[in-house]
This record gives sequence, C-alpha cells and structure tokens, in this order.
Amino acid sequence: MSTKYVFVSGGVASSLGKGIIAASLAKLLQARGLRVTIQKFDPYLNIDPGTLNPYEHGECYVTEDGAETDLDLGHYERFLNIYTSKANNVTTGKIYRTVIDKEREGAYLGKTVQIIPHITDEIKRRMMLLGKSGQYDIIITEIGGTVGDIESLPFIEAERQLQWELPAEDCLSIHLTLIPYLGAAKELKTKPTQHSVRMLQQYGVHPDIIVCRTEHHIPADMKRKIALFCNVRPNAVIESYDAPTIYEVPLNMQKEGLDSIVLDHFGIQAPPPDLDNWKEFLKRIKNPKKEVHIALVGKYVELQDAYKSIQEAFIHAGAANECHVRVTSIHSEHISEANAEELFGDKDGILIAPGFGERGLEGKIVAAHYARTHNVPMFGICLGMQMAVIEFARNVLGMKGAASTEVNPNTPYPVIDLMEDQKSLTIKGGTMRLGAYACKLKKDSLAYRIYGQEIIHERHRHRYEFNNKFLSEMEAAGMKTTGRNPDTGLVEIVEIPEHPFYIGVQFHPELKSTVVRPQPIFVAFVRAAMDFKAAR
Ligand code: GLN
Repeated sequence: MSTKYVFVSGGVASSLGKGIIAASLAKLLQARGLRVTIQKFDPYLNIDPGTLNPYEHGECYVTEDGAETDLDLGHYERFLNIYTSKANNVTTGKIYRTVIDKEREGAYLGKTVQIIPHITDEIKRRMMLLGKSGQYDIIITEIGGTVGDIESLPFIEAERQLQWELPAEDCLSIHLTLIPYLGAAKELKTKPTQHSVRMLQQYGVHPDIIVCRTEHHIPADMKRKIALFCNVRPNAVIESYDAPTIYEVPLNMQKEGLDSIVLDHFGIQAPPPDLDNWKEFLKRIKNPKKEVHIALVGKYVELQDAYKSIQEAFIHAGAANECHVRVTSIHSEHISEANAEELFGDKDGILIAPGFGERGLEGKIVAAHYARTHNVPMFGICLGMQMAVIEFARNVLGMKGAASTEVNPNTPYPVIDLMEDQKSLTIKGGTMRLGAYACKLKKDSLAYRIYGQEIIHERHRHRYEFNNKFLSEMEAAGMKTTGRNPDTGLVEIVEIPEHPFYIGVQFHPELKSTVVRPQPIFVAFVRAAMDFKAAR
C-alpha cells in the first residue's frame, strides 16, 4: 500500500483544536491497525518555539531526540503512545533557513530564488519526509494558523501542488471551522464556514471533509446546507461538539464516522477500531472513587497552555489511581511565609513547576519549605527541583543567600550552577541540554521504588544543574541524590528520605506521560497525596 497523506487546515478562528482533531483521527486509525504519525507545520518565522515565552506559545514540548516543538506534538504522543521527533514539527523559519543556506552554497545555479517553487518545494520535501521512511501507512499533516493568513499561504500552496503530484486517492484534505452560536438570535451560523471553505477553494484546495467545531449540536438540515455550499457530501460534514475532556474527542469523531470516511476515500479495508483500553481510561476519569487537591506552583497561572503536559500527566495518573486530581494553580509571585498556611494548608500535594528567570522564584522556595516542614507530598520539576535544593541549603544547612547562578551570579553558595558545557555558549536557540538522557537510580531510593528499574530515560530542557561541590554536605544533612547521569554524574534526582514523599527531578517526566503509560512519578505522587489526605 502506498503512503496516504491527510492534510488538516483550519479556518474562521484560531484555537479550534486542530491538534486534537488530528490526534483523534490518528488514534482511530491506529486503533484500526494502521501505522500513523502526525506532523505539524507552523507558519511563524522562529526556527522553533524554544525561544518563545509561554505567553506567546504555551508550553514548549520537547521530543525524545531533543527538538523544542509545538505543544500539539504532546497531544500526538499522549494519544498515540509513539514518539515524535525533530521531523514532526517544521516552521517557516526552518524552511527559509534551508533555502537561504542552499542559495548561499550556490545550489540554485544562478536561478532567482522564489517562494514558488523554491520555498514550496522545500515545504513539500518536508511534508513527504516521514512518508518516505516506509514506517507509516498514513501521515497526518496539520497546517498551523488559519486559512487566509498571509503566512500560511505557502503551506496551503504546497498542499495544492501535492494534490496533483500524488495519486488522487492518496491525498485527503480536512478543513476545521467554527459554527458560531448567536445567543440573541438563538441560531447557529454557517456563513463563516462557507467563507472559509471558499477561500481555501480559491487557493485551489478542495476539502473532502469539513469538521465543524460547535457549542450546540448541528441539525441534519444544517449539515446538508454546509455540504451544499461547501461542495462536499453531507456525511463528510462532521460535527465536533465541545467535549468535557479532550480524551472523548476520538469517540465523538468515531460516532460521526470520520475514520470511516477517511478509509473509504483511501480505499483501505480495516477492522473496526479497538478502543477498549481507551474507553476504560475514560470510564476511570469520569467515575473517580477519590479526589485529591494539588497545588501547582508556577508563574503562568492565567495561561491554560503553559503547563499543558503537567495537567495532562495528572489526568493520566489520576485515572491510574481512580482518583480525580483537582489542580489549583498558585501564582508563585503571590506566595510568602505569611500566607503559605492559607494557600497550602488544605492541599494534599504541592508540585513546583519548571521555569526560567527570577520572577516568582522566592515563592517557589517558600512552597518547598512549607512542603518539607509540613510533610506535604512534594514534587519539584526542573526549576522546581532546583528551588527545593536552594531551600534545603538555606534553611537546613544555614547557607544564607544560597541561590542559582541563573539569578545571582555572585551568590556565596551557588548550589545550582551553570553546566560546564553551557559556559561558552552565546547563542540561545536550541542550545540547552535537550531531549532524553539516561539516569541511573540508587537502589535504596523512592525513585527506584517508583520506577522499579535502575536505568531510566527522561527528557530535559535546562542550562543549570545541581552543583556537585555541595553534594556531600547536602547528603549528610538529609537531602539525597538518588539519580545521576551515568556518564557525567549530573544530579537528576534529589529526595529527602525522612519525608513521606519529597522528590525533585532535573528532567521533565510530564513529557512522557501518555494515556497508555501514565508517568510513574506522577502516579506515585497522586498515590502519596491520597495517603496524605487519608491520614489527615
Ligand atoms: N531555568 C532552569 C535551567 O535552565 C530550569 C529550566 C526548567 O525548569 N526547564 O536550568
């Protein structure tokens, strides 16, 4: 069977959830025995989102091979339980860089270098790359942005060209739009969808399927009307009704027949999707037996997407424990010794989030202090782990002014310091310690009990590390380093064995949590929070 290509574009508004639709379709096809992957093409000029702050772009998702990518890749991995890679996220910046580098090499042999064909050729080359590997039956390509944006145009144009280069039956176009509801008129409106599809058609792309995001069910006659105006069959107008959880979307898409229409188009026979595990997972999230209340301490509390993978990892770990994990974000800038009891007194666990820069650091240190001294289960991730180390140095070892050199290069106690190989770097983009590295666990540790194995691989995104000059002092005082990089000795995990559950990790375990494989530390943390709550 030749590799099939599905393109997903969006119109009317951004944030309609193209990533979730793409991931849901991929899930259904995977559950029918097909080998599927998803790639995302983002129209901005940054080479990758690594240099963008969360206000611009939400969480930066890091792949196993160390690419800093769009958070939709996190959804792909969580839904499909497969790793994505550098090749799965392409930006306009990457496309232009390749073309301009080639131009400087003289590769274009005197030709004028233009958006068409040179930029679009490079887009098409990358769109086909994963398909050429022979590893997949179906490649789903999500085109970021909204149809009509100037910056998305070359991607839509590349899709148009590919529709003619590939056999017609190997290519399919899905367009996601919004059907707004006008409260005053008590009516759903199809006109924006008509306009969006018309614009796409003007660019030469004719959608085969229209997915309509809506807050109210779309009546059958309205679907027929959309089909009529948008030049598709009525059954190819798919309703995507707001779901209480994103994990329900694959089932909703199945009910609407999305996977069947796609397979019919490609002429593929496949068994019905095996979604037993998925349904079991959904049942667990919907019928929890217990609840715990976790404080998520970070500085982007108002942003839904800043800690996306952490939020999702809690859903997976909650399901594993048949427990609803209620997460309350607490702004680290608003935490002080004076209000710690009020903020944390009713919480069953404290997670201290990753981050960069000085803002909100002292609040994270207060949170670590509260958790340590009140026996509240504590889980520190990356910067969160670093702040737990600083708290311990200051308050147990009496190292007044202990800090990370990220914010205080002149601290008398640089317990967190810049990694050696970072010291000569001047360029910021893509230069952190990124991606999966091995970590060796000490046998007699909480971490080992959690993972049940000695060597683990987790993903990273940091420049600073635990300063091993302070290792023996910290250990003697009760903070143990229980996971280290086997090659460099870099401290990956700290614990306080005297505390019921106090663990800080330099890596980002949240990035590898999926529906099928909930991340073990999250699972254990939720368990510890349940125990803590029960004992209160
Ligand atoms: N800013 C810290 C560092 O660079 C922590 C990074 C993080 O939390 N991802 O080491």
